[in-house]
Amino acid sequence: MIWIDGVLVSEGKGGVYGEKMLRNCRIWDPYRSKLAAYYHKGCGHELRKDDVVLYLGAANGTTVSHVADYTECVYAVEFAPRPMQDLLAVAAKRKNIVPIMADASRPEWYAPLLEPVDLLYMDVADPDQIGIASRNSVFLKQSGIALLMLKTRSIDVRSDPGDVLAESIARLEESDFVIQETMWLLPYHQDHAAILCAKK
Ligand code: SAM
Repeated sequence: MIWIDGVLVSEGKGGVYGEKMLRNCRIWDPYRSKLAAYYHKGCGHELRKDDVVLYLGAANGTTVSHVADYTECVYAVEFAPRPMQDLLAVAAKRKNIVPIMADASRPEWYAPLLEPVDLLYMDVADPDQIGIASRNSVFLKQSGIALLMLKTRSIDVRSDPGDVLAESIARLEESDFVIQETMWLLPYHQDHAAILCAKK
């Protein structure tokens, strides 16, 4: 990852969503992006130039645009029409973002558009986050990695976030994943945990 004096940045053309620039690089704000928060917490998996990424929960393309600065290609899935409009505008200015308007819980709808991916990144605020991750694991290469941003309050608002995380980890391990690392994203994002997993 690229750091300038402790500031996480990506190399790309600015002006995507009003982000600030530092020495001609785009500042990647950990308060706006859970993936940036993950790197600020010192977590392990770095993006690589030749990575193909499946990104679930693309929203308006804020984080997608930074991931695209670092990687070869990002397949960006979003199902809500309003953020999709912004995502299309972001993708129109780049050659390596493929926007896909679809429900991530129905991967069979977009399977024909995809190629095997190195990284499955997921930031969907959906009660069935673990089921969605599991269903999309089919797209991962055998050496592939999944990085889930778990919004515990979307899964169960009444349970303790720690219990929701523990249960989510158990479910992931029962499916196609081996857990490599977990981390709460405080102080940047409340009740969100990052879970890094390899494919079994
Ligand atoms: N990842 C974005 C970023 O960092 O810029 C923010 C994502 S926002 C927290 C969650 C997004 O997931 C929303 O835009 C929502 O519409 C989308 N989403 C939730 N459930 C989804 C599903 N089943 N399929 C596709 N998108 C979904």
